[in-house]
Amino acid sequence: GKILVTGANGYIALWVVKSLLEKGFSVRGTVRSEAKVNHLKETFKSFGDKFEVVVVEDITKDGAFDEAVKGIDAIEHTASPFHFNAVDPQELIVPAVGGTVSVLQSALKYGTDVKRVIVLSSCAAVLEPLTTPKTFNEENWNNLSIQEVEEKGKDALNSNKYRASKTLAEKAAWKFVDEHKGELKWDLVTLNPPFVFGPTLHEVGSASSLNTSALDWYESVLEQTGKDDNALATGGSCYIDVRDLALAHVYALEKEAAAGNRFIISAGTFKWQDFVNAARKYTTGVSAGNQSYKPEDAVHLIKYDTSKAEKVLGMTYVSLEETTKAILDDFKEKGWWP
Ligand code: NDP
Repeated sequence: GKILVTGANGYIALWVVKSLLEKGFSVRGTVRSEAKVNHLKETFKSFGDKFEVVVVEDITKDGAFDEAVKGIDAIEHTASPFHFNAVDPQELIVPAVGGTVSVLQSALKYGTDVKRVIVLSSCAAVLEPLTTPKTFNEENWNNLSIQEVEEKGKDALNSNKYRASKTLAEKAAWKFVDEHKGELKWDLVTLNPPFVFGPTLHEVGSASSLNTSALDWYESVLEQTGKDDNALATGGSCYIDVRDLALAHVYALEKEAAAGNRFIISAGTFKWQDFVNAARKYTTGVSAGNQSYKPEDAVHLIKYDTSKAEKVLGMTYVSLEETTKAILDDFKEKGWWP
């Protein structure tokens, strides 16, 4: 079959494309401009005409994907802004929600062969900030970020602007499916990962222009920018290796039982010091950081119940050490770390 991957030039998306091609699927990627086509074509040239790229300039426009969905068997929608620099929350909400709805609308109207749509959501649409530990599952929705953005607008925390955009986008997807029940020939699956770390395939000029999550890892673990001993031992969250997340996109396509479900895709918790300790096994030049840190004493406020993804999708995860090593191999190759 042929799979449409939106935002194909993104950090996660290139790994999704790679996994799909390696499993024998054909892929049509969408990007916003012609300038983003070359790197993709170059990366996947060994797959010949099994990979193609089309330009969709404005994903929020009505009918944006009308042409792109023709002849497509399933859709992986990943295009959505991920950064913490928005002033007006609508800078994130409009493309997040508008892009999701327009791809579903085009799939409904012209996706005659489409059997499944997978929307890359986020744990940002699951977690609610808290002060006592909690294990979240797929029943949980981040309504607090939406509420904060509604009440405070531009003055909301930037992290909550992003989280609201992801929550509203995923809610819009489920609402669309609900409203068009009898008319749809496809079902919906959403994937909810926490922080995504791992090596890069996308076009990046320098370490400082890495995407948000990979940059966070680079700055926190290798440069330890603004990270004192306390921050290294207490700062952290949950994470997933980008290569495992890419495989989740393939399993979500293949497993019939995934239909109509959201899945939390998380390898587990981390504190930055865990990655610092791992990195020091594979490279030089990384400061020791917090030398009295004990992983067994770390308090993790946010945890996820990932049993559904393990059971239905068959998810397995590489270790934190493997992720670290793969990142360092990539950064060395690119000349970003000795
Ligand atoms: P990237 O910034 O590398 O990729 C973002 C992709 O979305 C790019 O293709 C980008 O295109 C596209 N995009 C951004 N803004 C717009 C817009 N206004 N209109 C159209 N396309 C747009 O980040 P990631 O790969 O990390 O993010 C991909 C997805 O994964 C997002 O949906 C994000 O919310 C989600 N996610 C990421 C996590 C992470 O830790 N990285 C965690 C959980 C979810 P362009 O290059 O043209 O801007």
